[in-house]
Amino acid sequence: MTSYPNLLAPLDLGYTTLKNRVLMGSMHTGLEERGDWNRVAEFYAARARGGAGLIVTGGMAPNAEGGVFPGAAGLFSDQDIANHKSVTDRVHEEGGKIAMQILHAGRYAYGPNCVSASPLKSPISPFPPKELDEEGIQKQIADFATAAARAKAAGYDGVEVMGSEGYFLNQFLVTHTNKREDRWGGSYENRMRLPIKVVKAVREAVGPEFIVIYRLSMIDLIPNGSSFDEVVQLAKEIEKAGATIINTGIGWHEARIPTIATSVPRAAFTWVTKKLMGQVTIPVITSNRINNPDTAEDVLAGGAADMISMARPFLADPDFVAKAAAGEADRIAPCIGCNQACLDHTFGGKISTCLVNPRACYETELSYEMTDTPKSIAIVGAGPAGLSTALVADERGHDVTLFDRADQVGGQLNMAKKIPGKEEFVGLVDWYKRMVEASDIDLQLGKEVNADDLTGFDEVIIATGVSPRDPGIEGQDGDKVLSYIDVLRDGAEVGDRVAIIGAGGIGFDMAEFLTQAGESPTENLEEWLVEWGVADPEEVRGGLSPEGPKPEAPARQVTLMQRKAQALGKGLGKTTGWIHRATLKMKGVEMVGGVNYERITDEGLMVSTGETRENPQVIEVDNVILCAGQISNRTLADQLAQKGITAHVIGGADVAAELDAKRAIDQGSRLAASL
Ligand code: FAD
Ligand code: NAP
Ligand code: SF4
Repeated sequence: MTSYPNLLAPLDLGYTTLKNRVLMGSMHTGLEERGDWNRVAEFYAARARGGAGLIVTGGMAPNAEGGVFPGAAGLFSDQDIANHKSVTDRVHEEGGKIAMQILHAGRYAYGPNCVSASPLKSPISPFPPKELDEEGIQKQIADFATAAARAKAAGYDGVEVMGSEGYFLNQFLVTHTNKREDRWGGSYENRMRLPIKVVKAVREAVGPEFIVIYRLSMIDLIPNGSSFDEVVQLAKEIEKAGATIINTGIGWHEARIPTIATSVPRAAFTWVTKKLMGQVTIPVITSNRINNPDTAEDVLAGGAADMISMARPFLADPDFVAKAAAGEADRIAPCIGCNQACLDHTFGGKISTCLVNPRACYETELSYEMTDTPKSIAIVGAGPAGLSTALVADERGHDVTLFDRADQVGGQLNMAKKIPGKEEFVGLVDWYKRMVEASDIDLQLGKEVNADDLTGFDEVIIATGVSPRDPGIEGQDGDKVLSYIDVLRDGAEVGDRVAIIGAGGIGFDMAEFLTQAGESPTENLEEWLVEWGVADPEEVRGGLSPEGPKPEAPARQVTLMQRKAQALGKGLGKTTGWIHRATLKMKGVEMVGGVNYERITDEGLMVSTGETRENPQVIEVDNVILCAGQISNRTLADQLAQKGITAHVIGGADVAAELDAKRAIDQGSRLAASL
């Protein structure tokens, strides 16, 4: 008897059956645009082998004007169809099913030829769209249908029509972006004409026995978004137009409410999908921040949906479903919702991968094959760099000894996991712990290693991480001065008024830690919804609370500072930095740039501004917390070098600047793959 009876139950669609209720949701990986189709095929084949019930590809443009950026991939030529056929063939060989998403970006297209319902520029793109005329609209409908027919010719089992997240079809649906007065604007019947026509045309183009998913925005999270009555009305019409399945979209990309970041509670929006259940007769899929089989099973058992969409969890672990089915759910590498290697890469024009799994999208070039020449390997430091090296080296058949002076694995991740909104890091550290326990790695905790301990190994790897940088501020040895380690690791008491020196990732996290009173909203959905101003879309159009965000009162008065004369938080994640800035603003954190730290006194912190050190003033605080960056901890590496012992130095011990867990894990995994 499986622990996941609902999740692993087949879904009968009449002419075909999905083997379980898990949809791998659409993600733009950037692979298609690189043209290495073997790599694309192996990426999807791995997820099919791992048991996903139905895979949806990254969005393919139906035409040039609808591409997310100029040159975005689509099925435009016979060669494109042949390339995609190589992907569908590999997925089918692995026993999977795959649908192609048709994504028309409308005014979100990052190019001068973008088109939409009305000529209104979006806040997240510099290009105002051209307003389509009747002929232009007919062309778009025809292009959707052609893309679907070509997807069928390329061997896909279906298509997903992207109708949510504020893209083209969504832009016609709401008055926020549709100001037309012709038969495509005005009344809701007129505004929903386009999505319905598109689904009808797609169904006609592909015939009856082909999966057509429609992704429908169930809570827009923008002003003048759809009412829930309109959502239901649209869903019914989409069913009549010929869709097989309705998938959930949550929030437009321009919405200022986080929808998938790590600080969003798990399954935070499944209650929205649940409102649609029973209103249509075709299956309904829910999504967003579902990252483990237990949560997914609970959502299905609670009647919130017929199927679960998970996207990023399939980057973290392609074998998600196979492991759940085999009773090995605790071995599933968890997606922590960080966006650091997936969405941040996409928006940075890089290939997507995963912080937890550097093989994602690199399946053809990073392999963890068994070694012919097992070696004895010593690894010092069980932070993410050392852990990833140890696990990959062990998987390859090496004989690994892993040391850490701490009494637990995880290194700095053990501080990250204490930050409100970063609770997923708890699961990541636990996963590492379990994976080490289940391996043949000889783990030696509580062991401060010196150079003499490292003789007799074939390979020595130094992953000793980082130490806090000494900012050299007069008075920093006083009682009121603490380091981030004192606070986050050792639990030092902190007063009511605090100045934080340094506004990098750790300074921001420290400000969130110190301002949060009581339970983290990430652990309490009701509180989180109130904090961000999310309302019931049945009561308020678009689900935006008229009262706006209502955060809890901050636990402390915090001033966050940096020396650079620029806005704070510029170096934070591309897709998550705004969330951290918004959170601190809601908590009344004062953010000050362009300061000089003069000295720390009994009263507080004296700062001045500018090169000429003007306006000296004392910020009266109970504590000053140093988050002034870090330097490599290379003592052991240097000792080994002096003894002539060759060692590999990785993670923070190698380079401290711009270090994060993504780089540490990637470097460790790649080193272990090469040994
Ligand atoms: P570490 O994690 O520092 O591990 C080094 C290990 O070596 C330690 O466990 C230490 O005990 C051990 N060690 C050192 N010397 C010896 C010795 N002589 N003998 C035995 N053991 C030794 N990164 C992200 O990517 N995303 C985030 O959201 C994020 N948030 C963070 C939040 C906070 C509050 C903090 C502090 C860090 C955060 N980071 C984040 C950064 C991330 O944790 C680090 O970049 C990462 O842990 C560095 O990995 P590492 O393995 O190189 O070093
Ligand atoms: P950081 O991002 O490099 O920030 C260091 C801060 O200290 C900066 O604000 C810097 O600003 C200041 N600083 C540098 N030298 C100083 C000096 N001599 N005196 C006073 N201030 C000084 O480093 P971090 O905050 O320690 O974070 C470490 C790494 O962990 C980061 O690189 C980050 O990637 C990772 N991390 C990531 C996240 C995440 O959400 N992705 C969260 C936490 C940590 P000025 O020079 O302008 O003063
Ligand atoms: Fe999940 Fe982070 Fe990996 Fe993206 S990079 S898939 S959010 S763990």
